[in-house]
Amino acid sequence: MTELNLNNLTSDFPLLNKLMALEEVVWFNPNVTTLDQGLPYVGLDEKDIHDASLRLQRFAPYLAIAFPETQLSNGIIESNLVDIPTMKTALEAYYQLPIKGRLMMKKDSHLPISGSIKARGGIYEVLTHAEKLAFEAGLLSESDDYSKLLEPEFREFFKQYSIAVGSTGNLGMSIGIMSAKLGFTVSVHMSADARAWKKNKLREHGVNVVEYEQDYGVAVEQGRKEAELDPRCFFIDDENSKTLFLGYSVAGERLKQQFAQQQIVVDEAHPLFVYLPCGVGGGPGGVAFGLKMAFGDHVHCLFAEPTHSPCMLLGVHTGLHDEIAVQDLGIDNLTAADGLAVGRASGFVGRAMERLVDGYYTLTDERMYQLLGQLNQAEAIKLEPSALAGMPGPIHVEHNNEYMTRLGIDDSTLFNSTHLVWATGGGMVPEQEMAMYLAKSSI
Ligand SMILES: *Cc1c(COP(=O)(O)O)cnc(C)c1O
Repeated sequence: MTELNLNNLTSDFPLLNKLMALEEVVWFNPNVTTLDQGLPYVGLDEKDIHDASLRLQRFAPYLAIAFPETQLSNGIIESNLVDIPTMKTALEAYYQLPIKGRLMMKKDSHLPISGSIKARGGIYEVLTHAEKLAFEAGLLSESDDYSKLLEPEFREFFKQYSIAVGSTGNLGMSIGIMSAKLGFTVSVHMSADARAWKKNKLREHGVNVVEYEQDYGVAVEQGRKEAELDPRCFFIDDENSKTLFLGYSVAGERLKQQFAQQQIVVDEAHPLFVYLPCGVGGGPGGVAFGLKMAFGDHVHCLFAEPTHSPCMLLGVHTGLHDEIAVQDLGIDNLTAADGLAVGRASGFVGRAMERLVDGYYTLTDERMYQLLGQLNQAEAIKLEPSALAGMPGPIHVEHNNEYMTRLGIDDSTLFNSTHLVWATGGGMVPEQEMAMYLAKSSI
């Protein structure tokens, strides 16, 4: 992007000056529409989510045995929904502002198998690919008991095929562990910011880890190139995959069930606000899509990004989507938030979801660390820095008069509202690493 363009852009979109100054910003998209009006732009519907849900059910008997940690949930990979009232008090004290609604957390941080939100999309895409190959070879049919995938003949079969993915860490973990378990030959192309323990864990599972000194975009490009040379290699494309997106979207109906079980109402008088940390966009986009399909216009989703990697905010705000990267503004895309260090957002997700996502905000790494320590102190829940990005959301929402007025939400409605912070990772962080995070939280 030339200097001239950048000047035009900042005069058209003054908010970009704040982004470039690495200030924390909040932007509520005035072009948000109803589900009815927004849905056609997604290009996917209820039936697609239902198919994904059924596929996960078919694999459940296999997963329950292959990963004993999923036995209790009968092979369904799902996380808990918990109240965090002490954290609510801590946030109120910290911001010196009240939070009227109920504050809850969705603990995808503790999803089985890979300990992050990527256990939804990543694992689902590997299963989808495996099923397709096994169907085509006549080895499997929908009515089979999928626990037969544990038989050696299937491992032999999948060994002939390979899977490749580019990742900052957590996607690689989900895809690497799942692919290796089925028997695939799997390569994970990892960016410079990926943690050593994640690389080590993958190698323990027999995954081929390829390391890069550059960022996520480069790791993805290299992975893609290598896969193109090999017709038996399937490249999982985090930037464009509808399959990943659908894997995430199943979270909507699952959450709806959990809300029903806990007798939490979501309707016009009881709005639900959900705060999702955003990297390339597939995870938060897919979950938001599923939530919209489950709760309709009464759920309001916000995406949270690091001040150093505000790619989705930039893409949606300017309407340029994947035609602009944070680096074009001179922003360095360096953040401690694994999974969020993405300079260019998914063009697919940005365009599909821009009408259905209410707002976007950024926060500094220091803020994420602070919140990490506060949550540990208040609720004894340990997360990785990125997973805290959703935490300031309730303050931004409740105290933005323009946004509240536009939604027609008054104080008494806010008292009946639920704020749900989507905790996206941290459950598998080694103790030593966590001690370092906690040490940083008090600086
Ligand atoms: C990947 C990831 C996200 C965001 O998901 P995207 O699909 O990249 O937007 C958020 N939090 C954590 C911990 C992640 O690993």
